[in-house]
Amino acid sequence: MNIDVSRWFDLTGRVALVTGGCRGLGFAIARGLAAAGAKVVVNGRDAAALADATARLARDGYAADGAQFDVTDAQAIREGIAAIAKRAGHIDILVNNAGIQRRHPLVDFPQRDWDDIIATNLTAPHIVSQAVLPAMIERRRGKIIHIASLMAEFARPTVVPYIAAKGGVRQLTRGMAVELAAHGIQVNAIAPGYFATEMNRALLDDAKFDAWVKARTPAGRWGRPDEIAGLAVFLASSAADYVTGQMVMIDGGMSVAL
Ligand code: NDP
Repeated sequence: MNIDVSRWFDLTGRVALVTGGCRGLGFAIARGLAAAGAKVVVNGRDAAALADATARLARDGYAADGAQFDVTDAQAIREGIAAIAKRAGHIDILVNNAGIQRRHPLVDFPQRDWDDIIATNLTAPHIVSQAVLPAMIERRRGKIIHIASLMAEFARPTVVPYIAAKGGVRQLTRGMAVELAAHGIQVNAIAPGYFATEMNRALLDDAKFDAWVKARTPAGRWGRPDEIAGLAVFLASSAADYVTGQMVMIDGGMSVAL
């Protein structure tokens, strides 16, 4: 029997939405999905950043669309998803990537920052998923990929709400997976370790932290954003049709090293 492996990962004809897709890991995932053949829609809050992201994808030879909405605004999400369905077609692949980080000691953590982190990192993946699910259920197919974090499983000081939110994303993944499997929809999470993105700008510029990451990571370096794309393509593809409820760590070995 001849097996055409490339067909397993072929996303031709699929519509993919990546939230927070204008830069960093989201942009790398959008480009990877587009390279595998998907029609990609990148989401963001800022019109100029969206235009720039779609232009960069176009320069790389990929047709991409932009959808401007804030993932913490339920009404805007519903309108945004409806507009995508009209322009590009129903969403086959949703990547809940938009996320924020804020750092404070626990006892002084401002309530406002806690609320923003939970709204963006935990509640938004639920609400955006709810908006795309009716069409996925109707068509009996869909892939939802949440971007969690090593902090879904481990902990560091000054980021308690982020840890709580990403731990919640891990369980959101499992809960959604068991409820949606019978509808032909798979739900998985990617848990990145330390990647060199804007979110980590202050940490990258901190020589002590940079040295700690390199020493603590068996691979000896930060992750490069493009290195996340292949895993996202796999989880979005038919190669992963029997994979659901999982959280896959991509961390240069940090999570398995003492
Ligand atoms: P970046 O800060 O570089 O990018 C985050 C993106 O999300 C930005 O484009 C931002 O847009 C967007 N975003 C934030 N809030 C909203 C919102 N309310 N509505 C729409 N878009 C929004 O982060 P990364 O690329 O590093 O992170 C991507 C994901 O990966 C996050 O979920 C993060 O928690 C996770 N992660 C990252 C790790 C890393 O090492 N980099 C490690 C583990 C997890 P805007 O310009 O509007 O703010």
